[in-house]
Amino acid sequence: MHEFSIAKNIFDTVFQNIDKEDTVSKVTVEIGSFSGIESESIIFCWDILKENTRLKDSVIEVLSTDTTAECRKCGEIYTVRDYFFLCPECGSSDSEIIRGDKIILKSIEVEENG
Ligand SMILES: [Zn+2]
Repeated sequence: MHEFSIAKNIFDTVFQNIDKEDTVSKVTVEIGSFSGIESESIIFCWDILKENTRLKDSVIEVLSTDTTAECRKCGEIYTVRDYFFLCPECGSSDSEIIRGDKIILKSIEVEENG
């Protein structure tokens, strides 16, 4: 399952970024609309992965972002709607995705111990 390996990647990255004593309360990730990743699946996988680990009390928050593309012809940057790549400035379809095709780990919230 594609989503499971993505969730596992996030999980491993969080583990690498926390101290041994840290209790993670919340992890926030950003998923681009073009990645095709379903946020529900990530949340579902997270709940499986965190069981019996130090992340068991954590929740994962998934934010979705628009897909942004840059026109290779005129350099216009625009938001892609419905997988439709057409520069609003010059009409070219030769564009490069600059945001929205990835999943990004935004933040890790750690509880204060004590
Ligand atoms: Zn253009």
